[in-house]
Amino acid sequence: MSYVQEVLEQVKKRNPGEVEFHQAVEEVLHSLEPVIEKHPEYAKVGLIERFVEPERVVMFRVPWVDDSGKVQVNRGFRVQFNSAIGPYKGGLRFHPSVYLGIIKFLGFEQILKNSLTGLPIGGGKGGSDFDPKGKSDEEVMRFCQSFMTELYRHIGQDLDVPAGDIGVGAREIGYLFGQYKRIKNQYEAGVLTGKGLTYGGSLARKEATGFGLIYFVREMLAAHGMDFKDKTVVISGAGNVAIYACQKVQEYGAKVIAMCDSSGYIVDEEGIKLDTIKQIKEVERKRIKEYVKYHPNAQYFEGQQGIWSLKCDIALPCATQNDINLESAKKLVETGVKAIGEGANMPCTNEAIEYFLKNNVLVAPAKAANAGGVATSALEMSQNSMRLSWTFEEVNQKLDEIMVNIFKSSQAAAKEYGMEGNYVAGANIAGFLKVADAMMAHGI
Ligand code: GLU
Repeated sequence: MSYVQEVLEQVKKRNPGEVEFHQAVEEVLHSLEPVIEKHPEYAKVGLIERFVEPERVVMFRVPWVDDSGKVQVNRGFRVQFNSAIGPYKGGLRFHPSVYLGIIKFLGFEQILKNSLTGLPIGGGKGGSDFDPKGKSDEEVMRFCQSFMTELYRHIGQDLDVPAGDIGVGAREIGYLFGQYKRIKNQYEAGVLTGKGLTYGGSLARKEATGFGLIYFVREMLAAHGMDFKDKTVVISGAGNVAIYACQKVQEYGAKVIAMCDSSGYIVDEEGIKLDTIKQIKEVERKRIKEYVKYHPNAQYFEGQQGIWSLKCDIALPCATQNDINLESAKKLVETGVKAIGEGANMPCTNEAIEYFLKNNVLVAPAKAANAGGVATSALEMSQNSMRLSWTFEEVNQKLDEIMVNIFKSSQAAAKEYGMEGNYVAGANIAGFLKVADAMMAHGI
């Protein structure tokens, strides 16, 4: 058995049932095989075994009182995966599907993603099985306060800096920050990112993941003689990432014909009216099917998988993990898709990715393509440390440069290891080499 295979078996045995974590590790280790072969010194110091084991895992009780006066108990997590190149950095996800395996997969991906940004941030992730859907503002506030009452002792602006993810937006970050400040009696602005603009947040942070995704895909298309002009695009999701990816891709002249939420999808052959989506999702916090009330020529369909049967040139999965499986990948290839841009974390299964690559479909992998969010979080940390704020244009310009650099380093790494055009492997390799170098320097 090869060294990589051995480590993978060990990961499966040591983390039973954590299927998303196994999937993420398998995908990464597979593409790192040639790197590990070239660097026998890594195996000598157990570098890969250390790389797949979180430095620290915190799991805690989150009790809170709902509006009816009943006590609810959720579970909180923070996985501090790797701090070789900087303080742990990564979002918090509040969703009923959250358990340790999901947080570990996200934390593991975050190590490489953060490394790719070129900024000094390590990898971490946290969250809870709390479901913000259908909860009142007061319930969300009490939950966030209880969550932070434990989390505060494990984080800090030079230690671990959480942010948002699914179910955690500006409202939740505000409540979390308020509680941290109350407990610590200190204004430590850089302890959380994704903050509101009046208390240390960065302009363009909200747009950053979606915009960054499109900047990355723009570079990838250009490297293969293509662009967005007049292309048909399908986007899954209707959250922050999906909305701002839609905005930017429309600015570049593409037509977005479909978007979805966890209930179903809408198709508008004339092109999605983004203002309506923003009104439904950001203001009213309602379901996407409301869209057809405003635009009767559009159609609504229950379920999500159908969205991948629509004919499109570019597919942007921006919802959640394992959204595109092998079956959906086959449908997309059949309809002539040219490129996939992963806005969510691990939105394609490993089989789907392999199928795309085999069929010459370009894939912009999540770790690289959605790194714009965390990169801009790091820019927010910089502004907090300097106690100043950059303009929207300044932040957006830096974000664009970062995404271009991420594309270039993924492209170069793929080429160096004889896999030209395979940005999935390229991103894994480029992200890993920096972390590996720092881990080697720090000793065991
Ligand atoms: N949750 C986002 C991600 O998956 C952002 C994390 C952050 O800004 O720290 O990268």
